[in-house]
Amino acid sequence: MNEIFMAYQGEMALKGLNRRSFESMLEKNLRRRLKSLGSFDVRTSQSTIYITPKGEVDGDAAFERIRTTFGLAAVTRAVGCDKTLESICETAEAVLGEQLAGAKTFKVMSKRADKSFPMTSMELSAQVGGYLLQRHHHLKVDVKDPEVTVFCEVRDGSAFVHGAKQPAVGGLPVSTSGKAALLLSGGIDSPVAGYMMAKRGLHLMGIHFASPPYTSERAKQKVITLAKLLVPYTGRMTVWVVPYTEIQEHLHENGPEVLFTVLMRRSMMRIANILCGKYGCDGIVTGESLAQVASQTLAALQCTDAAQLLPVLRPLIGMDKVEITAIAREIGTFETSILPYEDCCTVFTPPHPKTRPTLQEIEAAEAELDLAAMEAAAAEAAEKVFVDFE
Ligand code: ATP
Ligand code: MG
Repeated sequence: MNEIFMAYQGEMALKGLNRRSFESMLEKNLRRRLKSLGSFDVRTSQSTIYITPKGEVDGDAAFERIRTTFGLAAVTRAVGCDKTLESICETAEAVLGEQLAGAKTFKVMSKRADKSFPMTSMELSAQVGGYLLQRHHHLKVDVKDPEVTVFCEVRDGSAFVHGAKQPAVGGLPVSTSGKAALLLSGGIDSPVAGYMMAKRGLHLMGIHFASPPYTSERAKQKVITLAKLLVPYTGRMTVWVVPYTEIQEHLHENGPEVLFTVLMRRSMMRIANILCGKYGCDGIVTGESLAQVASQTLAALQCTDAAQLLPVLRPLIGMDKVEITAIAREIGTFETSILPYEDCCTVFTPPHPKTRPTLQEIEAAEAELDLAAMEAAAAEAAEKVFVDFE
């Protein structure tokens, strides 16, 4: 069978003047995502994206990849056929005959983009419906709430038949909302935060702080693995691994212990800011969730935010761990996230961190420290790891 995929735009269909740039980004993302499965023709016409395999491909795998590409509301597998009534009827039976045999009610919906086709949409639906009723005597037509809907579309090049559309993941095409840095730890939260912001169309660059020998090579590899798991959704990603040991030791030895975590988070933000400036990112994404730990209280977040001026995006801020974990499982990062390797945030963590630090005391503590040069050096020494599709 001459199978093609038809994908339908979601929210981006509402975009006005720059709609075409959204569409071409979505087409590009789809081509990249499908590349390793074979060759595909990807083109958009009237808000529908037609994805045609050129040659043999794994249809199930392609469907799943399309379904999980951000920017699409729904997707369906359709079969192309000649633009004759006979061919459309036979194809409808071939594609949906089995489903119709098990259903009680159905209807046919037709669309005619090719106005030279010698029947109106209504006539085509009636003819195809009549043909299917002859083969399935038990069926009844129900236009309001049918169990099976048979869609027939007559377009310029060919006609297409398909069944129900399936929901896709939604969102906006990656890279249409700009670029931001994702602070990626090895935990459960930050990969989910990255997934959620990529879904809003952000192109992400990863930043990971590593503190060897307190944190191991395995902990770093775990973060790279998490980035690899995200790449199908986010597109290829550069991850900067920042050597953080020296700064952490400096904070531990010279800063007030109760403020350690917030001082550390502010320094992470400043380093992230330097890397953002260097690599064209206009925001920072973190996996913080309100009051999850001492460094995520309102007062602590205020201190963290005040460390630099870029917007800090926290998509998990109002979610609890159960909700975050459910998404982590769905996107396949959970099992890797729970591997028990240390994160630099847990190194030197004070037993009783202050939950309500004030910006004044934080700034006073920082005035006693010598962080700027160390932070610039750490950003400069960051190791670049490029993570691409498999
Ligand atoms: P996660 O599960 O994402 O590790 P968490 O609940 O453990 O989050 P924290 O350790 O306080 O929370 O970290 C809060 C956020 O700070 C993380 O979601 C992440 O965005 C960032 N972060 C923490 N540690 C690191 C790190 N080593 N490298 C980069 N970012 C980090
Ligand atoms: Mg963590």
